[in-house]
Amino acid sequence: MSSIEEKDKEFIWHPFTQMQEWVAQPQMVIEAAEGIKLIDDQGNSYYDGVSSLWVNLHGHRHPVIDQAIIEQLGKVAHTTMLGLVNVPAAQLAEELMAVVPQGLKKLFYSDDGSTAVEIGIKMAFQYWQLKGKPKKQKFITLANAYHGDTVGTVSVGGIDLFHRIFSALLFETIQAPAPCCYHCKLSSGAKLCGMACSKEVEKILEEGHEEIAAIIVEPLVQAAAGMLTQPPGYLKRLREITKKYNVLLLVDEVATGFGRTGKMFACDHEEVSPDFMMVAKGITGGYLPLAATFMTDEIYNTFLGDYAQQRTFYHGHSYTGNPLCCAAGLANLKIFRDENVLENLQGKIEAARNKLAGFTLKHVGDIRQRGLIIGIELVENPQEKIPFPWEMAVGAKVCKKAREHGLIIRPIGSVVVFMPPLASTITEIEHMLDIIYLSIKEVTEDEQLQYGA
Ligand code: PMP
Repeated sequence: MSSIEEKDKEFIWHPFTQMQEWVAQPQMVIEAAEGIKLIDDQGNSYYDGVSSLWVNLHGHRHPVIDQAIIEQLGKVAHTTMLGLVNVPAAQLAEELMAVVPQGLKKLFYSDDGSTAVEIGIKMAFQYWQLKGKPKKQKFITLANAYHGDTVGTVSVGGIDLFHRIFSALLFETIQAPAPCCYHCKLSSGAKLCGMACSKEVEKILEEGHEEIAAIIVEPLVQAAAGMLTQPPGYLKRLREITKKYNVLLLVDEVATGFGRTGKMFACDHEEVSPDFMMVAKGITGGYLPLAATFMTDEIYNTFLGDYAQQRTFYHGHSYTGNPLCCAAGLANLKIFRDENVLENLQGKIEAARNKLAGFTLKHVGDIRQRGLIIGIELVENPQEKIPFPWEMAVGAKVCKKAREHGLIIRPIGSVVVFMPPLASTITEIEHMLDIIYLSIKEVTEDEQLQYGA
């Protein structure tokens, strides 16, 4: 074991990790990166198949982002936004406004997806208090939702494994079914169902709208739930019914934003302009922690007044609008423009779709793709949709195998997640998918499956 690995195991508690398992197993130390590859301390390189947790867009060490950060370092690395303006934060805000859905006019900076969502929740709550509708306090959430790990965002989350233990700490929400055709319990004929999932939301709104502040949703794909893709038109329908019942729509684009789904934002697929939109992850091209919560003029203007009227939004973090992060954000948008990222993506998405069509393996139950968000659900029995027992850790085994073949990916339960950097070429995408195919085949067909990772 290297001395770095020793230090890690002695001092660090890793996210979402059972540390007993972590310290018992050999771990990979990443020392460097180049393009879409990560390089370990032995000099081995691996495809970054989950874009370093869904954040990296243009590859590592992109010269334009590197240079933007270096230049900003020569000016100022950090200063507060409390009482001061900083140059890249103002410039980035203007550029972002030009690409977000047209009804969004202002933004509030923060540092990560969880804080961006937390801000949306608090603003939506305060908005109704200020509008003289203090009874509108409840949030509709989706089953299996994931919006972050702070107490507020866990409250609007719905992943039992992560969130159950904290239930006594959380505020109550109204949970609607997760819209995913493969797992649908509302209907058996996906195309004939008339989107029963959206009707469930409408029923809740019809009955309770006077006490409902907002609905919060991950658009098109519930990512951390296992890449659960929503039927086309679902988001648009949510926009229609939230308008009808005077309820705010909060769209969490933390995972889907910045090209991931094939358009700049998932909202663009359905021409939806929400009341709030939260972004993080890809906003800096995957370099530095930055997030933003966007809102309409109606929301912003409602908070105008004096301090005594309680119209101020009392919230902010030390690193809000950090200049280095905003400089990286500006470089990210420049790359989108200069390198025609969105146009070039279409062929890559198609190439992935064609490759995935050949994944006719015995234990592949469902393949879900939206742009370069891909989830391959492995099941014990595809005919009956019987899942593999959790203890079998099939997803983890496939990912371990993929690593032996030079690809880093992470599972969500039995769903193999593939989220390559947008900069990956078609050849690289096909190569990574070949590795995933081979790894699934080896683990689920060629080897004797045992319990435990
Ligand atoms: N919302 C969604 C949809 C996410 O996928 C995530 C993170 N995976 C978050 C919020 C939380 O973001 P962060 O980890 O940056 O706090």
